[in-house]
Amino acid sequence: MSQDKIGMNHGAGGEVMGNLIADTILNNISKKSVDGGIGLDALDDGATIPLGDYEIVVTTDGHTVSPLFFPGGDIGRISAAGTINDVSVMGAKPIAITNAMIIKEGFPIENLDKIMKSMNETCEEADVAIVAGDTKVMEQDKIDEIVIVTTGIGIAKKGEIIRDSTLEVGDKIIVTGSIGDHGMSLMSFREGFGFDTDLKSDVAPMWGIVSKALEIGGVKAMKDPTRGGFANAINEMASKSGVGILLNQEDIPIKEEVKAVSDMLGIDPFEVANEGKVVMGVKSDLADEILEAIQKDKYGKDAAIIGEVIEGKHVLIETPVGGERILEAPIADPVPRVC
Ligand code: MG
Repeated sequence: MSQDKIGMNHGAGGEVMGNLIADTILNNISKKSVDGGIGLDALDDGATIPLGDYEIVVTTDGHTVSPLFFPGGDIGRISAAGTINDVSVMGAKPIAITNAMIIKEGFPIENLDKIMKSMNETCEEADVAIVAGDTKVMEQDKIDEIVIVTTGIGIAKKGEIIRDSTLEVGDKIIVTGSIGDHGMSLMSFREGFGFDTDLKSDVAPMWGIVSKALEIGGVKAMKDPTRGGFANAINEMASKSGVGILLNQEDIPIKEEVKAVSDMLGIDPFEVANEGKVVMGVKSDLADEILEAIQKDKYGKDAAIIGEVIEGKHVLIETPVGGERILEAPIADPVPRVC
């Protein structure tokens, strides 16, 4: 792909996309934040707008997942949960989303009905309203099925926003469940394993888990490991915080089915999207208590403390035989169009 046209890598979350965002997007925007709030150039999960004693959190996400319906979810559930989760990991209670849909001419209304019911169900679960929307139709050959863009709005008390860049040496790292479920289930579905599999997407709203952790306190940094997977999220948290991280491989939960499919397809489960997980850095003296609270949530049963923040600049994984390897952020997305 020539350098003057958009290629798939420009949407893959790696260095190529980073350069596009820096050179062509951020460079062209003059005002990127409001009244000292977190702005666009922080490239955090959401932005904040200070308002009296509160901060409004805003985030937006476009969804191009293919296929539209997959084991464990559909584009409606992802469009709601993805946005709700980006608000949640900022430490803000999600209160509303907006929903813009661009639909292909000829798209079955029955499928749109299913997608809307699923989006609604996901919002109900997190007590989130759908307060605005837009519906556009494009000609048959101009768009692939349906593209959904949701914007999430949340609220937090001033000073309670959680960043992804504020880890400190000694913090413990918690992951709220097994890694790689969404990307690997989509991939195996596309490869023809169908709905007849134990492997399901984890797509779910995370505010329940996040609020349980926030109630205890001591949450230092959070991120939802979506595109680029756990490897991308943990590296971003480490590099933005200027710290290293040491993980214990045996403590990182990965389902047997995910391991099997990942071996079969040669795709690293650390590099594929999760849509119902949170990675947290927490104060070490509160880590056990936070873990216990998370495990009480229906989406948090497999949560684990998987490592700690150290001095340095790499994310290291300690292997069962006592070796160490560097976990790098993925260069490109091994599985496109998963969210
Ligand atoms: Mg995010």
